[in-house]
Amino acid sequence: MTLPNSMAQLLAHKPRLQAGHVWLVGAGPGDPGLLTLEALAALTEADALVHDALVSAEIVAVAAQAEKFFVGKRGGRLSIPQADINALLVRLAREGRKVVRLKGGHPTVFARGGEEALALVENGIPYRVLPGVTSAFGGLASAGIPLTMRGVNGALILATGFAAVSDDRPDWGALARTGHPLIIYMGLTHMAETVADLMAGGLPRDTPAALIENATLPQERTIVATLGTLVAVAARENVSSPALIVVGHIVALREKMDSPA
Ligand code: SAH
Repeated sequence: MTLPNSMAQLLAHKPRLQAGHVWLVGAGPGDPGLLTLEALAALTEADALVHDALVSAEIVAVAAQAEKFFVGKRGGRLSIPQADINALLVRLAREGRKVVRLKGGHPTVFARGGEEALALVENGIPYRVLPGVTSAFGGLASAGIPLTMRGVNGALILATGFAAVSDDRPDWGALARTGHPLIIYMGLTHMAETVADLMAGGLPRDTPAALIENATLPQERTIVATLGTLVAVAARENVSSPALIVVGHIVALREKMDSPA
């Protein structure tokens, strides 16, 4: 695929993906419309594409000429050890390939992009991070929930509900006491425990909450509940991964912002 001239002009002064380099690229939460121009260009230039389960097949297909390496991991379950993924990136770069490492959302939001960057640096491989729209940003936009709203929240917390390393486990009580809205990634598996910890930390049961499943994709679903009913509602509605949990008063603004468009 060649980019139209007007688009190519926008990218004229940007670095091009070179042989022996690795770009860590964010694919956004699913909707191809949320790819950046740079990500799109990188996909058309790559000759090796290393990608995850969360990236839509139609986005992977843009890299028609690239050899594909699927290193799927989902919901915190690693099917391929991270060390092997790091080694694959290093090997492909050393073979002189133009490597795109494509991840759902943004490459360094709960996605181990930082670890991959460190491995590349340690091995002397040049790399860049191309930001993507993280699922919290894409998902709340399509669900009609603002990230911040004057008079409602002066801060916003992005947290993981599935910390594989115990040091990473958020102190839910401390987060609850900030009173700031929380957007929880990978939160389904340990939801009951997380919700209990947030309530123990002082968040009222009637705090508005929402689940956003398959955000920005055609099958997207948003389900509104309260902190107290969240676990039961998720079970009743059979909510499955990928999904975001949103907790806080920003959720209540959804009703007012509902638009037919
Ligand atoms: N780097 C990604 C996050 C990877 S962690 C990003 O920036 O979005 C994987 C978690 O992201 C999932 O468990 C889910 O909580 C969230 N997620 C990713 N894509 C999603 C989508 N389309 N809809 C809802 N949640 C999504």
